[in-house]
Amino acid sequence: MQLAQRVRQLPPYLFVEVSRKIAAKRAQGHDVISFGIGDPDLPTPPHIIESLCQAAQVPANHRYPESDGLPEFRRTIADWYEKRFAVSLDPDKEVLPLIGSKEGIAHVALCFIDPGDVALVTDPGYPVYSIGTMFAGGETYYLPMTAETGFLPDLEKIPSAVADRARILWLNYPNNPTGAVADIDFFERVVHFARQHDLVVCHDGPYSEVAYDGYKPVSFMETPGAREVGIEFHSLSKTYNMTGWRVGMVVGNATAVDALMRVKSNMDSGIPQAIQIMAMTALTGPQESIQEHNRIYQRRRDKVVAALRHVGCEVIPPKASLYVWAHVPAGYTSLSFATKLLDEADVVVTPGTGYGPSGEGYVRLSITLADDRLEEAVARLNKLR
Ligand SMILES: *Cc1c(COP(=O)(O)O)cnc(C)c1O
Repeated sequence: MQLAQRVRQLPPYLFVEVSRKIAAKRAQGHDVISFGIGDPDLPTPPHIIESLCQAAQVPANHRYPESDGLPEFRRTIADWYEKRFAVSLDPDKEVLPLIGSKEGIAHVALCFIDPGDVALVTDPGYPVYSIGTMFAGGETYYLPMTAETGFLPDLEKIPSAVADRARILWLNYPNNPTGAVADIDFFERVVHFARQHDLVVCHDGPYSEVAYDGYKPVSFMETPGAREVGIEFHSLSKTYNMTGWRVGMVVGNATAVDALMRVKSNMDSGIPQAIQIMAMTALTGPQESIQEHNRIYQRRRDKVVAALRHVGCEVIPPKASLYVWAHVPAGYTSLSFATKLLDEADVVVTPGTGYGPSGEGYVRLSITLADDRLEEAVARLNKLR
């Protein structure tokens, strides 16, 4: 059996490596606490689950769904964008439900990338942007993000020969892994850049509702001209603790949305209808859980930031996202510092290099672990040194 290049070229999945390390320690009897994985620990709010249970009883929901989703679900998504961001979308042309946003993020490369084409991808970043590019036969050109520019890529620095070959620019704010946020000013420069080089902007925004200190993230779609050049991926996963239910959406440019719909209709048969109904309940029902969860995350964030400063890290508390991005103390690399915390405190953090070469010098901590485990890990870190 001969595996295809695209499979042989796959890097080992980041979290598999992390899990292996944890397993080895645990096998030795250690109580390992992991800040490794970004997956909300709190349950989906009960009224959302109740809606799924009811929808599951209805035989009409047992059949194949439509690839482009229930029209009511597309309308609900458009209404949510209107209410939350004052962005008006045509539910039939500018909205497409996804089987979790990761699915659309991976498949959209098939719409824009031919062999040899370039995708511009921020580094460090969510690995799916470059892997989707590779699956389509394209090449990734990494845009380094540094603390000096607030972890926004410097578009001026992209050689014009590269920018002209580029078909996609990938962006993600609030950002995973850095926790950085972007404003409309930056997005306006992005729209200008996209027009100049005739490329599509794919903005990934699943953390728009996970924010602290009263900060309210913006949507790329709020930017004048955004829908002429781009699309935005969003998801219910992080907003409503729904990672396990697999439901998200893409909105924006009608040509791009239609292309992705046509690709997908040849690959999958849409989101189970009961899950779409559940998602409508999430988007239209009581929203108090969002603020409640953000209060919990903010408390965790503050404890983690204090403990990291105690062990010598430089940290800017993130305004949004589920991640604390910490600069390791002098004399350490990402990996050597992560190894020290595992060896000396049985605490797992992710080396920043797992998200790309510009992640060197950083570690990422996800604040999605139960309060008592987080407290225990923080107590261990506070005892170090
Ligand atoms: C969590 C996450 C997603 C994916 O979420 P889905 O569960 O697939 O909707 C997408 N992008 C980033 C950057 C994420 O962190």
